[in-house]
Amino acid sequence: MADGMSPSQRALLRLGRSLGDSTVRTDPSSCETFARDESETEPVTPAGVVHASTAEHVRQTLAVCHDEGVCVVPRGGATGRTGGATVIRPDTVVLDTTPLAAVKHLDRANQTVVVEPGVRTASLHALAESEGLFFPPDPLSAEWSCLGGNVAENAGGPRAFKYGVTREYTRVIEAALMGGETVRAGHRTSKGVAGYDVASLLVGSEGTLAVFTELTLRLVALPPEVRTLVAGFADARDAGRAVASLVARGLTPRCVELVDEVCCDVMRAHDATVLPAGARAVLVIECDGHHPAAVDAELDRVADVCDAVGARHLERARTRDEREALWRVRRVMSRSLRATAAHKLSEDVVVPRSEVPALLDAVRVIAARESIVMPTYGHAGDGNLHVNVLWNTPDERPRVDRAIEALFRATLDLGGTLSGEHGIGVLKAPYLPWEQSPALLDLQQRIKAAFDPRGLLNPGKVFTPGGAPSHRGC
Ligand SMILES: Cc1cc2nc3c(=O)[nH]c(=O)nc-3n(C[C@H](O)[C@H](O)[C@H](O)COP(=O)(O)OP(=O)(O)OC[C@H]3O[C@@H](n4cnc5c(N)ncnc54)[C@H](O)[C@@H]3O)c2cc1C
Repeated sequence: MADGMSPSQRALLRLGRSLGDSTVRTDPSSCETFARDESETEPVTPAGVVHASTAEHVRQTLAVCHDEGVCVVPRGGATGRTGGATVIRPDTVVLDTTPLAAVKHLDRANQTVVVEPGVRTASLHALAESEGLFFPPDPLSAEWSCLGGNVAENAGGPRAFKYGVTREYTRVIEAALMGGETVRAGHRTSKGVAGYDVASLLVGSEGTLAVFTELTLRLVALPPEVRTLVAGFADARDAGRAVASLVARGLTPRCVELVDEVCCDVMRAHDATVLPAGARAVLVIECDGHHPAAVDAELDRVADVCDAVGARHLERARTRDEREALWRVRRVMSRSLRATAAHKLSEDVVVPRSEVPALLDAVRVIAARESIVMPTYGHAGDGNLHVNVLWNTPDERPRVDRAIEALFRATLDLGGTLSGEHGIGVLKAPYLPWEQSPALLDLQQRIKAAFDPRGLLNPGKVFTPGGAPSHRGC
C-alpha cells in the first residue's frame, strides 16, 4: 500500500480510468444497492461496482483485479436464494453483467439463440414464443432473473419435470477467466464429445470458475396446446401421494407443483378466485403437446390418478386468462409468504420422487418439534420442494437452525440432495460436507484452483472458508 491505497481502491481507479466513471461506480449509494440479493445473507457493501456492457469490460475487470489481488463477484438479476451474488468482505468488486443484454442471433433452422448473459429470462421466453419456439427452463423469478444467473445456478422451475433444467439447453458458453483470458466451451451442434465437457462444468458453477460473456442456448418447438388442472386435497401428504402415483404410472405432465395448507392460504389472500374453495392443499398440474386430443387424454389420465388417491376437487383452467391468473399468484407466492414474517429462509431440497410423502411427513414432525412454521411448496414432480422457515424474533433462531439441520438430515436419509436449483452459495456451504465425501470436495477445490489459482473469483461460495482455495489471496 505504498501509495496509501488499498488493492481494491487501486483496481477501481485503474478500471475507472480505462472504462469510464459511468461504468465503474464507487459512491456509497451505488454500492449499497449491491449488498443484498434474495437470500437472508448478511448484507456487505462492496468497494465498487463495474457495470459491464461489453465482454471487454468483463475481461478488463478480471485482468486488473487479478493483477491487484482483488476479489470479484459476478452478478445478474440478484434473485439468487443462497447469497451467490453477494460479497463476503467489503474490499470486493461486484461485476454487474445485467447491461450485457443483447440477443445476438436467433437461428430458426437449428433452433438455437445466442445471447449475452444479462438478457432477462422472461424476455427470451417472449422472443422464442414470437418465433413459434420455446425455451423451457422457467424459474418463477423469470421476470427478474438473467440467463447468465440461470446458467450459473443451473436453474429449473416448474417445467423441469418434463423438459429438464438449464444444463440441457446450454450449448456453448463464452467465458472470461480471472486474469482476463477468454474460453469458449461446448458446441453449437446437437451432438459433440470433443474434449472434456467444460460447458457442463460451468453450468451450475455459481460464478466461482468464470464469468459468462455469451451463451448459445437450445430452443425447442413451442407446444401450442396447454391444459391446466388444479387438484385439491385434504392435506399436503395426500397431494404428495398423488405425485408419487403419477410418477409410478409414467405420466409426464410438464408441471406438477405442490402447494401446502399455509401456502394455499397465502395464495387465496392474494387472489381468492385462483384455487378451489375448500381445497386445503393443491397440486397444479399442466400438460402440453402438439395435438389437442392427446393433451386432453393425458390430462384425463392425470385427473383419474388424483381422483384415485382422494382428490376432493378437480378444476380445469378454462381459458388462457384463468391459467395465467393462477401462475401470476404462484410466481409471487414466495414474496407473499415473506411478507407474513420478519424473516424467511427458503430451502430447496430434493428427494427421489417416491419419497415426497415421507419428506412432507418429516417436515411436519420437525415443525411441530421446534414450534416453527414451515410452509412448503414447489416442484414436487421432481421431488424438489421449497421448504420455508418463517420466524420473527432473534430468540427463535436456535430453533430455526435446528429445524434446518433436521430437514437436511431427513433429506439425505431419504436419498436426496441439499439443493435442486438454488445452489450452495454461502448459506449451504457449511452443509456440503454432509452430502459429499472429503475426496469429492478436494477434487472440486482442485478444479476451482485450476480456473482461479489465487481464489479471487466469488470467494466463500460453495465451499466453506478455510481449506477452500477460494479464500486464498483475499
Ligand atoms: C421469487 C423467486 C422465485 C424463484 N424461483 C426459482 C425457480 O422456480 N427455479 C430456480 O431454479 N430458481 C428460482 N429462484 C432462484 C433464482 O431466481 C435463480 O437461482 C436464478 O437462476 C438466479 O439468476 P440471477 O440472474 O438472479 O442471478 P444472481 O442472483 O445475480 O446470481 C446467481 C449466481 O450466478 C452467478 N452469476 C450471475 N451472472 C453470472 C455471469 N454472467 N457469469 C458467471 N456467473 C454469474 C453469481 O455469481 C451467483 O453465484 C427464484 C428466486 C426468487 C426470488
